[in-house]
Amino acid sequence: MNDCIFCKIVAGEIPATKVHETEDTLAFLDVKPVSPGHTLVIPKKHYENIFDIPEDILAKVISETKYIAKTVKESTNADGISISQNNGEAAGQVVHHLHFHVIPRSKHR
Ligand code: AMP
Ligand code: ZN
Repeated sequence: MNDCIFCKIVAGEIPATKVHETEDTLAFLDVKPVSPGHTLVIPKKHYENIFDIPEDILAKVISETKYIAKTVKESTNADGISISQNNGEAAGQVVHHLHFHVIPRSKHR
């Protein structure tokens, strides 16, 4: 998938603000954050959506998403965290490399 922007981030070909990295996953800041600290969690390998990704890799991405939700909540002092994930253009998926959005929410913002 050489035209995939998230594969290029994994390969270091385009810049991103990395938040955390494991053997199979990468977390980095969204360029157009819904709120400060909005982070994306992806598998390093290219899978288009939830239907394509094998369960064992998905489990690692979900586990990392939980870890990122916890650390982002603590570091932004958020009151809550939204986690979302879009599959297909009709669902609002723009980047066709599976990703989970981790979005800090606050009662007063
Ligand atoms: P989705 O609509 O679920 O496909 O979300 C794609 C997300 O990727 C959007 O929130 C974009 O702001 C974000 N995005 C697109 N390009 C980049 C990039 N180069 N670095 C970080 N985030 C990006
Ligand atoms: Zn990709």
